[in-house]
Amino acid sequence: MDSGVAAGTAGVSPTVAEPDARPAMDDAANRRAGAVLTVNVGAIAANWRGLRDAGRVANRQVDCAAVLKADAYGTGARIVGPRLAAEGCRQFFVAHIEEGIALRSAMPEHPICVLNGLLPGTEDDFVAHGLTPALNHLGQLSAWRAAAQRHNRPLDAVIHVDTGMHRLGFSPEEAQVLANERGRLRGLRLALIMSHLVASEEQGNPINGEQLQRFRAFLRTMPGAPTSLANSSGIFLGPDYHFDLLRPGAALYGINPLPGQPNPMLPVVTLHARILQTRRIDALQTVGYGGAWRSARPSRVATIALGYADGYFRILINRTHVHLAGHRVPVIGRISMDLVTLDVTDVPEAEAQTGALVEVLGPHTSPDDLAEHARTNAYEVMTALGHRYARVYVDRPESTE
Ligand SMILES: *Cc1c(COP(=O)(O)O)cnc(C)c1O
Repeated sequence: MDSGVAAGTAGVSPTVAEPDARPAMDDAANRRAGAVLTVNVGAIAANWRGLRDAGRVANRQVDCAAVLKADAYGTGARIVGPRLAAEGCRQFFVAHIEEGIALRSAMPEHPICVLNGLLPGTEDDFVAHGLTPALNHLGQLSAWRAAAQRHNRPLDAVIHVDTGMHRLGFSPEEAQVLANERGRLRGLRLALIMSHLVASEEQGNPINGEQLQRFRAFLRTMPGAPTSLANSSGIFLGPDYHFDLLRPGAALYGINPLPGQPNPMLPVVTLHARILQTRRIDALQTVGYGGAWRSARPSRVATIALGYADGYFRILINRTHVHLAGHRVPVIGRISMDLVTLDVTDVPEAEAQTGALVEVLGPHTSPDDLAEHARTNAYEVMTALGHRYARVYVDRPESTE
C-alpha cells in the first residue's frame, strides 16, 4: 500500500505536525518527478470512520458507503476502494460503467453501483462484471428485468427517484407507476432506493426539507427496501437525512462539507512541484505569455513544473500563491500548459534553487482554498488533478488520536 518511504514518525501526520514536510518518495521517483501528489489513504479511512460514526447516533445502525467516481475524486479509486473495504466499507458508487469495471478488478466482492445508469446494450456488461446500475427510469427498469430473465437469476436493482434535482432518476409520475405496479420489480432484488440532494451544503435552504418530504412520501409507497439520501453535506443536515445508507464522496477526500465553517475533515492530498529554473530580471520586465505580469522591481523568478494540463487552472493568473520554505510566494503571469512562474524575490536564494519542491496544495493551501482563488469548488480542483504527477500513497493515521 505505502509506496513511499515509511514515515518514520508513526502516528504523526506530517501534513499536520510538520507544515513544511516534503513528500516521501523513493530515490528514482524523487529524481524524475516534476510534481508529486501525495495521497494519505489513512486520512481517507479516518474521514470515512468519522462519517460512519455520524450515522450511528441515537442507537441507529446507518451504514456508510463510499463514492469513488472520477477516480475517487482524483485520488485513485483502485487504491482507495480496497483501503476503505478493509476499513469496513461495504458499498461503493461510481458514475460510469467503465469506472465500475476498473474498480471491480481491484475489489472482487463488494457491491458497486453505477450512478449514471443503464445505457442500452450494456446490460450484459453489467452482469458480467457484477455491477449494479442505478435505474433512473422505467425503461431502464424493464431492460434490467429482461436481463435478469435472460440470465435466469435475480439481479440487484437500485432505484433512483428524482426529488427535485431534475437531472437523473424516476420522475414523480414514473415513481407513481412503479408504486402502483410492483410487479415491474419481479425477478429483481430491490437493493436500494435513493435520491440526491440539490443544495445540502446550504443548511438553511428550504429545498432540503422539501426533498426530504418527497422522498419520505415515495418510500411510504415502497416499504421495506434499504434507503439512501445523504451525500457528504447531507450527513451534516442531521439524522433525519441519514436513512439506511450514507453516500459521501467529497468529505472522504478532505473537501469541506460545511462551507463557511471550520472543516471537520482531515486533509488528504498534498501537491508539491519542483523548481526547474530560476532567473533574475530587471524592473519593468514581463514574465510569461502575453507579458501579463510586469516586475515593479529587480526580481527573481522561479519556474515550476506544473500547468493547466495538470489541473492548475488558467484563471489562477495573478491571484494565488504557493509556499516555499515558510514563505508565501505569489504566482505571477499566465499559467502555461506545463509551467507556472513564481516571484521568489523575497525567498532566500538558497531556498529557491533548481530542484526545490514548493507546496501547491498542503497545510497552507487546501483544495478549498485553491478553489476559492480559482472561482470554483474543491470538487473541480480535486477531479482536475493531473495524471502526470508522480503519485505517492501513504497510510498515516491521524495525529490527534
Ligand atoms: C457525487 C454523488 C454523491 C457524493 O456527493 P458528495 O457531495 O461528493 O459527497 C452522492 N450521490 C450521488 C448520486 C452523487 O452523484
